[in-house]
Amino acid sequence: MSIETTHKSILTIVVPCYNEGEVLCETTRRLIAVLEGLQSVISPDSRILYVDDGSIDCTWDLIGRLHTADCRVVGISLAANSGHQNALMAGLETTVRCSDLFVTIDADLQDDETVICDMVRLAMEGCDIVYGVRSSRKSDTWFKRTTAQAFYRLMHRMGVRTVYNHADYRLMSRRTVEALLRYEERNLFLRGLVPLLGFRTATVEYVRLERKAGESKYPLTKMMGLAFDGITSFSMTPVHLVLWIGAAFLTAALVIAAWVVACLLTQRAVTGWASLMLSVWLCSGCILIGLGIVGEYIGKIYMEVKHRPRYVIKEEVL
Ligand code: UDP
Ligand code: MG
Repeated sequence: MSIETTHKSILTIVVPCYNEGEVLCETTRRLIAVLEGLQSVISPDSRILYVDDGSIDCTWDLIGRLHTADCRVVGISLAANSGHQNALMAGLETTVRCSDLFVTIDADLQDDETVICDMVRLAMEGCDIVYGVRSSRKSDTWFKRTTAQAFYRLMHRMGVRTVYNHADYRLMSRRTVEALLRYEERNLFLRGLVPLLGFRTATVEYVRLERKAGESKYPLTKMMGLAFDGITSFSMTPVHLVLWIGAAFLTAALVIAAWVVACLLTQRAVTGWASLMLSVWLCSGCILIGLGIVGEYIGKIYMEVKHRPRYVIKEEVL
């Protein structure tokens, strides 16, 4: 989207927060500095929107106090912990009518906030989506780095278009957010959805830093849940794989049947109880895995047809 000379774009920085009380003051200080650095090119109505995702610490009180101190800080509080992806959607949906540009960034300052200036500059040059891409993940643990990179590769193999080493740090123009909001799915995986939108895109690189305070709100189980959602919401490859494995087993069964007939005709007794039992277990295992994968997709359909709200807003300071 191009920025008109008469009207400066309103920028909203959407920050999902789940028990981020320890880091929020520093985050606000840094993000206000970014808004001030951009004041010649963006509207003075630009703001920081904190989405409190059902925190149980002092996060919401702190957001209230930060709002009182500086009206550029606004917030919404979700009635329950709805997850990072839903919190982002809540922030975008709440501000879509009153902003022109949207940046989503985590509260913990791991993503270098100074590149927001480059993102805005690229938006002014006509880009609708600017992805923040990690050029180095040295600050991540070996485990996090390896599993994350294996996940990006797996997604690629499964035919899901994602931007390598990009998480949810990105700038979007209003028309792309409007397009995104038309996707009504409940199993959200924004890293897969946003590249589906099209539009003119660009990337900016940054070095991922250490968390400023507090600890990760993405334990291994949540991370695996997100990865699984990413694959099963976008790719039919696992189901196709089950079909191919089934076909391979059927072929093997036909070969074995031919061998049994040949043994019968040549009057040779069929021995091999152990191998028989082994194949029973093997086949049953494969069938159960197959059923599980298909069940996962049916479960997703079940969740989608219910049309439950993604989140419920409890309070606002806007
Ligand atoms: N977050 C959230 N809801 C959740 C979990 C996380 O809003 O249920 C927010 C969290 O406050 C942070 C962002 O999502 O702003 C990313 O979480 P985190 O930094 O803990 O993840 P990591 O960087 O360790 O993958
Ligand atoms: Mg983080």
